[in-house]
Parts: sequence; structure tokens; C-alpha cells
Amino acid sequence: MIIGVLSVQGGFVEHMRSIERLGHEARAVRRPEHLEGLDGLIMPGGESTTMSKLLELGGMLEPLRTLVADGLPVFGTCAGLILLADRVLDTRSDAHSLHAMDITVRRNAFGRQVDSFETQLPFGDIDTPVEAVFIRAPKVEEVGDGVEVVSTLPDGTVVGVRQGHVLGCSFHPELSEDDRVHEYFLGMVKQYGVE
Ligand code: GLN
Repeated sequence: MIIGVLSVQGGFVEHMRSIERLGHEARAVRRPEHLEGLDGLIMPGGESTTMSKLLELGGMLEPLRTLVADGLPVFGTCAGLILLADRVLDTRSDAHSLHAMDITVRRNAFGRQVDSFETQLPFGDIDTPVEAVFIRAPKVEEVGDGVEVVSTLPDGTVVGVRQGHVLGCSFHPELSEDDRVHEYFLGMVKQYGVE
């Protein structure tokens, strides 16, 4: 399978390595033409407002919105999750979103004292907890009816969500050696590819 990794800003390289370790082709997506023929797409962490600006300047927003609306499986991590959300709190008024998930996220929601931390969390149907690295991460504050919560912190904070072919998490699964969250996403890609 060919998995695109949005590579305009942020931590795209680690996502590409993870896809390659799992035996698939990772393609850096920088321009609209790189979106052609993808089986799935990853939107990495970084700075969502900067990414939003770069996607706008590069003419990528509409092609991305169309592809996701047409059913391309997409996985957003951290800033990538923010870019998928219908509603974003504590962002710039001119920041754009792909509006791919019926969720409300709050940027930088863990506060300065704990802006980065690492933990192990349950994720979807994965049998044991996965490694989760949080860096100035968003929290998912509301989920719509069609959204499945796939990961929460022990205090109940929602940090992983899925809506059909769209997956998102607040943390960085690509910053550990644990590729099982990517494997979970590839399972979604396979499922949607045969439909
Ligand atoms: N704080 C960043 C944002 O709001 C996200 C951080 C990250 O992706 N690690 O876009």
C-alpha cells in the first residue's frame, strides 16, 4: 500500500519510518499532485496553525477536503488531529480545518507544567497498552454521535477517536518503537480499500 505522509511541516519523518517498518511505501506529500493514488494519508504533529497556513498557500486544503470526504482513510496525530476537527478551541481565528471529524478539540490543553509527558494507554482493540508521547497536546473535549472513543487517559480525558475512515490521537505514536497504532490505521486502510 502507498501511505502519504503530509510533509509541509512537523514530525513527518518518524511516521514514514513507521510505515516502512510495517512493510509499506511512505510517500512525502507536499503538493496536490502527491495525493494521487494514495491508499491512506497521515497528518503528523507539528504546529497546526503553521500547517494550516502552508496548506492554504500550497492550494492543498480543497484537494485534501475532497479526498477525505470521498473516503480516503486519514490518521491525524496531535496537530494533525487538530486539523481534522470540526471545532477547535484556543486557536487563531484564521486557522483552517479539514472538518473531517465531529469533535471539539482544545489546543495545548495540558498546561505549561505538564506540557510534555510519556505514558502507556489502551488503544482500540490492541491487546496491551501502547506507548504514548504527549507534546503540547490537544484534548478532545466533545465527541459527536458517530465518533468512537478509542483511547482515554486514566482520568477519562479523550485522546484517541475514530469516525469511520478517519482516526486521530492527541499523542505521538511515531515517537516510540511501538508501531501498533500505525498497524491499527493500516487495518482501517485495508478495510476501506476493499469496500
Ligand atoms: N501545540 C501544537 C498545535 O497546537 C500541537 C503540538 C504537536 O503536534 N506536538 O498545533
